[in-house]
Amino acid sequence: MREPLIEKLSQIVGGEHVVINESRLDEISWDALSEGRLHPEKKPATVLPLCVVLPGSAGEVREIVLLANEEKVPIIPYGGGSGLMGGALSIRPGIVVDLRRMDRILEVDGAARSVRVETGSVLESVEKRLNENGFILGHDPWTLPVATVGGAISTNSMGYRGGLYGSMGEQVLGLDAVLPNGEILHTRPVGKHSAGIDLNALLIGGEGCFGIITEATVRIFPKPEKRALSALAFESFEQGYAAIQKIFARGLTPAVVDFGDDDEKHHGGAVLYLGFEGNKEIVEAEERLALPICEQGGGRRLPQEQAEEFWRTRHVIARRFMQNRRQRRERGRDGVYRDWIHVALPGSKVLPFRTAAMEIVERHGVHLQESGLWLQPELFSMRLGAEDGGNRDAQLALEEAVYELLRLVQKMGGSMEYTHGVGVKLAPLMAEEHGYGLEVMRRIKRALDPNNIMNPGKMGI
Ligand SMILES: Cc1cc2nc3c(=O)[nH]c(=O)nc-3n(C[C@H](O)[C@H](O)[C@H](O)COP(=O)(O)OP(=O)(O)OC[C@H]3O[C@@H](n4cnc5c(N)ncnc54)[C@H](O)[C@@H]3O)c2cc1C
Repeated sequence: MREPLIEKLSQIVGGEHVVINESRLDEISWDALSEGRLHPEKKPATVLPLCVVLPGSAGEVREIVLLANEEKVPIIPYGGGSGLMGGALSIRPGIVVDLRRMDRILEVDGAARSVRVETGSVLESVEKRLNENGFILGHDPWTLPVATVGGAISTNSMGYRGGLYGSMGEQVLGLDAVLPNGEILHTRPVGKHSAGIDLNALLIGGEGCFGIITEATVRIFPKPEKRALSALAFESFEQGYAAIQKIFARGLTPAVVDFGDDDEKHHGGAVLYLGFEGNKEIVEAEERLALPICEQGGGRRLPQEQAEEFWRTRHVIARRFMQNRRQRRERGRDGVYRDWIHVALPGSKVLPFRTAAMEIVERHGVHLQESGLWLQPELFSMRLGAEDGGNRDAQLALEEAVYELLRLVQKMGGSMEYTHGVGVKLAPLMAEEHGYGLEVMRRIKRALDPNNIMNPGKMGI
């Protein structure tokens, strides 16, 4: 079956854009989810894809989708492959559709404050082009140099400045997508409409299960006149959390809130990187109001160089990831399994959750390495570690702890994940997350994808 399929795909995209080299197939069969972060009893088997195709246009994407329907072969949409949940993992032999040849920036419309791009465009290249025109993208994740616009929309990703500009999904005005049945969805690129339900939402956070996004029109922002970044040390997580709550209660809008109590780095205390950006007068006014709130709440200003270093090095980890993808896949490195949770909770529940979480973590024999907040007081993270005793117990203990923590988040009215998506990692928890909502997603999926070809086995649908 493989040879005739490859022949037909070559006719669509050209033979030079069909990859069958085994080492390349192996590399692209994974994204940035490491084996050590999968629950050992719930992890799916992975396989080599049949091939990778690199289409050059939406028309070619459509032909690939029609062919996949005819042949009943799965498709796995692939952007930068930096997803952390296994959304782009190959778990059934299929066609990986690598969008990165579709990387044209089609139009920067300054008056409309929008950019129209092909979705294989890497975020950093969009950012550079916008900077030349006096704008910024706004979306600025760690993985700016590797993630694509399509991947960022499909995971509804958040970035460092998301406090001001929102998530990638919130920036989407309109998009074009090839649906699993080969039909084209085009939504109008406007900031607001009241003409039926929002069909962008079918693709935002859809992890390639509801179609392949080929083009997107995204809100952009004027280059900030000023950025004011500070680093502040607090005696405890609770003390810093209270100050952050007060900043928001005062109606201020920090672009950057990066707060954590990493014990190795902060020795019992917690550090907040706080940033405002935009119009000079507004930034100065917001900073004048926010810093005294922090200082009255026990915050101590750290040297400005520390804040600048934090900002300068924010994408370094992504460049390291690009150089060493295979190593990342391996289970527990340095004899330590690591995992983390990034959850959304009502602000009133964050501290009670943290207290309850510590008991859970201890009971499972897992170490809590850091608690943190990103962007808003509601977006809470924990980084956990478990030492490998030479068998799978550590990994099992770690993942059991993660599952219990996420179930507690759901019980407390929160959501189990706010930035990385579901993929295969969190798929087993989707029924508890959504209740009948999961059935709604499954019915939409069945209606649009009767042959179940579009990224099957992901997101629990
Ligand atoms: C070191 C590191 C740091 C990270 N930092 C952040 C961070 O700061 N914030 C954050 O939110 N995430 C972060 N991530 C996760 C990751 O970068 C994001 O999830 C990113 O948005 C994924 O984009 P991608 O292009 O790499 O997508 P991929 O990994 O290629 O794909 C992600 C999902 O989208 C689907 N997909 C891809 N392109 C399309 C398309 N055109 N149409 C439909 N479906 C598509 C795939 O099938 C998959 O399900 C980080 C990851 C790493 C490794």
